[in-house]
Amino acid sequence: ENLYRITGWGEPYFSINAAGHVTVSPQADHGGALDLYELVKGLRQRNIGLPLLLRFSDILADRINRLNAAFARGIARYRYPNTYRGVYPIKCNQHRHIVESLVRYGTPYNFGLEAGSKPELMIALAMLQPQENPEPDQQNQPLLICNGYKDREYIETALLARRLGHRPIIVVEQVAEVALAIEISRNLGIKPILGVRAKLSTQGMGRWGISTGDRAKFGLTIPEMLTAIGQLRQADMLDSLQLLHFHIGSQISSISVIKEAMTEASQIFVQLAKLGGNMRYLDVGGGLGVDYDGSKTNFYASKNYNIQNYVNDVISAVQDACVAAEIPCPVLISESGRAIASHQSVLIFDIVATNDINPPLPKVKAKDHAILRNLMETWETITVDNYQEAYHDVEQFKTEAISLFNFGYLGLKERAKAEEIYWACCRKILQICRQQEYVPDDLENLEVNLASIYYANMSVFQSAPDSWAIDQLFPIMPIHRLDEEPTQRGILADITCDSDGKIDRFIDLRDVKSVLELHPLMEIEQEDAPPRVEPYYLGMFLVGAYQEIMGNLHNLFGDINVVHIQMNPKGYQIEHLVRGDTIAEVLGYVQYDPEDLLENMRRYCEQAMEDKRMSLEESQLLLENYERSLLQYTYLKPTSGIHTS
Ligand code: PLP
Repeated sequence: ENLYRITGWGEPYFSINAAGHVTVSPQADHGGALDLYELVKGLRQRNIGLPLLLRFSDILADRINRLNAAFARGIARYRYPNTYRGVYPIKCNQHRHIVESLVRYGTPYNFGLEAGSKPELMIALAMLQPQENPEPDQQNQPLLICNGYKDREYIETALLARRLGHRPIIVVEQVAEVALAIEISRNLGIKPILGVRAKLSTQGMGRWGISTGDRAKFGLTIPEMLTAIGQLRQADMLDSLQLLHFHIGSQISSISVIKEAMTEASQIFVQLAKLGGNMRYLDVGGGLGVDYDGSKTNFYASKNYNIQNYVNDVISAVQDACVAAEIPCPVLISESGRAIASHQSVLIFDIVATNDINPPLPKVKAKDHAILRNLMETWETITVDNYQEAYHDVEQFKTEAISLFNFGYLGLKERAKAEEIYWACCRKILQICRQQEYVPDDLENLEVNLASIYYANMSVFQSAPDSWAIDQLFPIMPIHRLDEEPTQRGILADITCDSDGKIDRFIDLRDVKSVLELHPLMEIEQEDAPPRVEPYYLGMFLVGAYQEIMGNLHNLFGDINVVHIQMNPKGYQIEHLVRGDTIAEVLGYVQYDPEDLLENMRRYCEQAMEDKRMSLEESQLLLENYERSLLQYTYLKPTSGIHTS
């Protein structure tokens, strides 16, 4: 458990059972725990290929319940005289089944949606249930927060949605949007509810810390806000300005940043009210973090607060400012995406092959070249007292061996022997290093240099783009064999032919480690066939936010199979199965017509047969393979695995 820190990041949803398998308990009060390994085996038997993404809708429901319960507790604790109306930012994961589930699970809390673009606005308008007879000031209705760049149609559509019975709030992100909103509202005769997004001077932290500050992409500076207020006052529409919004970036690791932002935003809110704004809503944006490494610290892959701490700080800061200024406390809105959507999705993939540096130790004879004898002598004498010195010796001997080879004094076989002894020495030194509390700096790379490569049947670019693009850490671990010591140390290489398609940074306590503890692949002897490799399944957890939509088709590895699982008293049921792309589909995305391709292939085969370069059987086999492949998944099918060393 400690190796993978599952109790840190997994609670309360993921743990390990007595069989050494990862289990999923979607809702703490549900009682049941689903064996992830058995689930994957069951799905494989239904012919659902790997890699696959499991989505647990009960986890999604639990996340919404938790966030709303935390606000309810905070509001009760501080006797806050208003309500909370959360919205889900669609950008975080736009897939229909997710938005549908969110709307369904959010209904008891009047949970709304946030759109960051015109396409997302169109989703929100059609997915949220409008109120038939909304009262003008009714708070009992999900909100529709309209963010992002807006053109005339965006604003018109959002305004007209009020007639349907929606409650859209148009958040001004650029000053020019104010004039446009005034004009369109006059033309349509519909009064808007407007908000402004502030560029706070509070800086977020880490990778997403650039979402605030004067040069941030979105929002209005204080002088720009004053301009907007002037325009609204002149148009006699200042009462339309009802909301202040800010977003200081995603994955805020430190509670102090949230406190600081809340203090600044609350003061801006109060000042806007004093200037005549009809301020009723404060929208604190996203940023609520996810503890990816389970360390509960302000390390960028973690967070040093829980949901309740976050909520309490939001509530108390606004209340303090409003009470002091004697203005009414606003409805509180948050746009938490990552904290709601991450936990529900688990990526499962298999290992198709491994490669490690573990050559046998060659024999060295008295007549062999001195460099080989030196290397062997070093190997024989490595001890805990001299391992650091021995490491430097073997490094030097290896460099010398290569020079000797380059000058023609060593043959290929001798160079091979030199390399084999070198790696054997490194292994012996590494074994000693692992027993030490402190590893000398110059030996730190040994672990990585000797790590096995585990070839993972997936594309990092498709399924975990943030791991490649911004070095985000996700918890990764085997989902079975956890009652067995993982004797190997490995990195993961995906099946794209891009050397960036690898994962060599893994969670550690408040840190990053460069190798993951893994099990050796188990080979099962078969008669008349190469040994079969027992499937070895790994899970990448907390991947429900942002990864799916940002994934790309690098090397034409397409969308993966997605299975929605719902728990029930008897176990589980498959709510939805969304099949991943076939090869024909991904070829279509890049404008190939699979029929045309097949036709070309047929012609080439005919020609080859006519020229007697190919037999009829060969041509049939090739065309059958080609045609069948078009309808297949873009990832590898399980075959006998390959293990090389
Ligand atoms: N609101 C806005 C305006 C955003 O840009 C984002 C994403 O960065 C979010 C909300 C969601 O943030 P998070 O996923 O950190 O909750």
